[in-house]
Amino acid sequence: MRVHVDMALCQTHAQCVFAAPEVFGLDDDDELVYEAAPGDDAWPAVEEAARACPVQAIFPDAD
Ligand code: SF4
Repeated sequence: MRVHVDMALCQTHAQCVFAAPEVFGLDDDDELVYEAAPGDDAWPAVEEAARACPVQAIFPDAD
């Protein structure tokens, strides 16, 4: 699967980090970093992260 985050929307609320810590994280500058092509088993957690994101910045893609 693939994950896209619209960094123009992201406000580093970090709900995605709590929902899917294996895919999303914060770097030393508190900027969001994420795995753009996680394994398919990450799909449920990424969907949960997309639901949790307060600015709807996460776009999961099954491809
Ligand atoms: S929850 Fe949304 S706004 Fe917050 S860090 Fe994740 S992508 Fe960015």
